[in-house]
Amino acid sequence: MNKLGLPGKGEATWPVISKCLGCEHIKSGTHCDTYMFPETKWSAGNCPRATNVEKTAEIVKPLDPIKASKRKARGK
Ligand code: SF4
Repeated sequence: MNKLGLPGKGEATWPVISKCLGCEHIKSGTHCDTYMFPETKWSAGNCPRATNVEKTAEIVKPLDPIKASKRKARGK
């Protein structure tokens, strides 16, 4: 394992979990070629390198506080 926690060439990795199914990083059927411990990548949400999950970013429009207070004063 290198200092980023990625598997080195020829190093053994833990098998993928059910959430990984369909990901393009699965090599030889049951192991991930990117991460050594696939389960830990899913422990805090979606795996950052998963290709089987559609990534959606929530676009939050910045709110101008002055305009918001004017709108509130007008009753809108
Ligand atoms: S990149 Fe992530 S989702 Fe894909 S096989 Fe590896 S751990 Fe699983």
